[in-house]
Amino acid sequence: MFYLGESGSMLSVNRRISDIRSQVADWRSSGRTVGFVPTMGALHEGHGALIRASIEHCDRTVVSIFVNPLQFDRKEDLLTYPRDDKADQAFIEDLGAHALFLPSVEEMYPQEQWTILTQKTITNNLDGQARPGFFDGILTVVLKLFHMVSPDVAFFGLKDYQQVAVIRRMVADLNMEVEIRGIPTAREASGVAYASRNKLLSEDDRPHAALLYQALQATEAQFHQGIDDVDILLDGLRNALATIPNARIDYADLVDGVSLQLKTKKASVGDVLALAVYLGSVRLIDNLILSEKNSFLS
Ligand code: AMP
Repeated sequence: MFYLGESGSMLSVNRRISDIRSQVADWRSSGRTVGFVPTMGALHEGHGALIRASIEHCDRTVVSIFVNPLQFDRKEDLLTYPRDDKADQAFIEDLGAHALFLPSVEEMYPQEQWTILTQKTITNNLDGQARPGFFDGILTVVLKLFHMVSPDVAFFGLKDYQQVAVIRRMVADLNMEVEIRGIPTAREASGVAYASRNKLLSEDDRPHAALLYQALQATEAQFHQGIDDVDILLDGLRNALATIPNARIDYADLVDGVSLQLKTKKASVGDVLALAVYLGSVRLIDNLILSEKNSFLS
């Protein structure tokens, strides 16, 4: 099915695995490279940054939208996850992506999924620890999607830093040919990282979301002032988060940027401050990669 959007370009909308496979095979046979942006929908500027990067780097861009039941441990979270297929389709088309893959749960999991991918070590901390089975669900669905779409390059957001690390490792461990690109976190002017779950924040909690990134930045500022003791830095971060009204810290840690193991003594450039905080019942995550003092990248 094709959908003619405002910019006049054609978006191919595919609900069947066989359809997206033949669409991609078509492009491949004429020598085109394929970029892939997997998402769970409720699209925003964060997803937009990934889609733009793919369009820039690849001849054809496939965006998938699939809210993956396998990665949700709380049924309620799955049921309340925001969905808006129509707006998403228009958003993707306006950006100039070429295909949307929109499978149903039955299409993705026609029978009970007995083969589950799991990963050691990198998943021991942060979301891997806080959400049992979360990365098993992500690895399994991303592997399936990669088999369906066969992309040359896949784009993931560094907002989900651990997810990028886990997927990179899967690709290396399983000798997969896809290239993984991590795209910097897109933020509102206030500093709030765009996230589908922001839509679920109450009016009272909404303005407090910006305080998460401010707390990360304040901790990095301490690091730039020469404080590299992990306990001091994390005490400061956790204390700042504790002052946010209606907030509950799930975790606030410092990890090595590659192994994602907890740092316990000295912080260094390239380490990642990562947090998960509930504002009311909405769980938000964010992170900051510690930069050199005078870096423009912080
Ligand atoms: P999701 O739909 O939340 O599963 O996210 C799909 C992809 O978009 C993942 O690779 C996320 O890391 C990425 N993403 C989500 N929010 C942002 C953001 N604010 N900036 C950059 N990438 C993002």
